[in-house]
Amino acid sequence: MSRTISIVNQKGGVGKTTTAVNLACGLALAEQRTLVVDMDPQANATMSLGLAPAELESTVFDVLMEPEFLEKAIYSTSVPNLAVLPANTDLVAAEVKLIKDERRMFRLRKALARARERFSFIIIDCPPSLGMLTVNAICASSSIIIPLQCEYYSLEGLSRTLEAIRIFRETLGLDIEIAGLLLTMFDSRTKLSNEVASDIRKHFPDKVFATVIPRNVRVAE
Ligand code: ATP
Ligand code: MG
Repeated sequence: MSRTISIVNQKGGVGKTTTAVNLACGLALAEQRTLVVDMDPQANATMSLGLAPAELESTVFDVLMEPEFLEKAIYSTSVPNLAVLPANTDLVAAEVKLIKDERRMFRLRKALARARERFSFIIIDCPPSLGMLTVNAICASSSIIIPLQCEYYSLEGLSRTLEAIRIFRETLGLDIEIAGLLLTMFDSRTKLSNEVASDIRKHFPDKVFATVIPRNVRVAE
């Protein structure tokens, strides 16, 4: 059974791409066939995995327009068991191009149907918004991981994100679970990190992963 996990937060710079790429690499190293789907026109996940966005012949944009492109748009990476369905700035146009399609929120779900046989895990990196690209990612997912930076205002926007996911689950009858909230860039030496972390755990006692991602310059480098 294949699992599709989206990394979602409408706030920017909270560690979505870092989480997506590292989780996917970890799964691939554990010999799970894994696909990273880059749903962000910024293409940070694509670049992290060694591809040059401007030079790509096919991307996730082509796949959203025409599912037949899936095979052509899946690239292997230097990590064994890890493949990527990359993005580039073409993806900016997707929202406008799909505006007349009543089932536009299901384009990615439909396109990935064929990939589910080949991969045990599909990890989707989302842009920092709740627009059509993130909605497509959510509707294609079996679970959602929400990274939260241990900073002020980290909970801002979270309730909107959770509400959106609840609506998709209930009104569209989709089987999507919130796998958990992931605390990122945690600096145990600062009072702020500790306060924010305990605050988030207080608000969402059952939803925060026990594992916390420390702030580490080497990650940024
Ligand atoms: P965006 O919303 O723009 O897509 P994002 O949520 O994907 O951003 P990242 O790109 O993963 O966030 O991380 C933001 C910045 O923080 C990057 O420069 C990244 O290298 C850095 N970063 C992420 N995680 C850590 C960490 N644990 N320690 C130190 N730096 C980190
Ligand atoms: Mg990102």
